[in-house]
Amino acid sequence: MTLHEAIERLYDLSVGVVGIAGERHERPHKPLLLLAVFDLIDEGPATPERIPWCQELRDRFTARFNLVRKHDDKNTPDNPFNYLQSEGFWQAWKEGNRKAHPVDAPLLARDLGHAFARFTDGFQYLVSLPTNRQIMRDALVSRYFPHLSQIKSQQSEITNRQSNLQVTDEPLEYGRSPAFRRKILAIYDHQCAACGLRIKIPAGNDVSFIDAAHLIPFSESQNDHPTNGLALCKNHHWAMDRDILAPGPDLHWHVSKLIDPRRSNGERELSDLAGKSVLLPKDPAFLPDEEGVKWRLQRLSA
Ligand SMILES: [Zn+2]
Repeated sequence: MTLHEAIERLYDLSVGVVGIAGERHERPHKPLLLLAVFDLIDEGPATPERIPWCQELRDRFTARFNLVRKHDDKNTPDNPFNYLQSEGFWQAWKEGNRKAHPVDAPLLARDLGHAFARFTDGFQYLVSLPTNRQIMRDALVSRYFPHLSQIKSQQSEITNRQSNLQVTDEPLEYGRSPAFRRKILAIYDHQCAACGLRIKIPAGNDVSFIDAAHLIPFSESQNDHPTNGLALCKNHHWAMDRDILAPGPDLHWHVSKLIDPRRSNGERELSDLAGKSVLLPKDPAFLPDEEGVKWRLQRLSA
């Protein structure tokens, strides 16, 4: 397990997507519990091999939960403590008479102090290094809670105090870019949101004709939430990044007035996109974020 692979897995947690229409969203519980666990490891009460099921962990979870909860989300850290096991890098145990038993259901209040979890599958070695924890924490925030910079700054502060880590302003790479791309291509089913070109390359081949574009660039937003992304073919990615093509809050394409359809076929194809709808993902949880499409439209060259 490399850090690269670990980040890819953190970007693709099966978090559960719930709700209908405008309330559709990803449940925050698994990434929130991991952030709380990293805190406890930073501060000493937990190690990667033994994460106690304790009130401190629940409090850490709740503090952030209150900042990110949406709609009917419930403050239940006991659920991810159990369900993280489905990710393949986490095991939970309940301590009985001299023997520990695998946890197979969410824990109860009376289990506090009598259960623990541990990282497995190579995560235990990665997570033991403070620098790795910081990179994983940044990745979790960028992917699941990009608007909560307060979480990030609060945490960077703690980690800095604990380990004298140098936190740079440079966005850290470590596999987040391929992980973002994989997620966006899955959500858009490998189809360009402008022209509809769909090319699927067999799994394992990293070549693709469809890109995952950020609406607000990562360097500016540190936002890898799928609602800050669009699947675009190379041509339309190029055009959007040069501000001659932009999605708008009306979820239609807008084309710069600099484009003259009489000049070339390429320009005619681009200008034909004006007023066409953005080809959206099936799941409304991942519709382009309003802030992102506004940002793009504002930059369209007049
Ligand atoms: Zn295209």
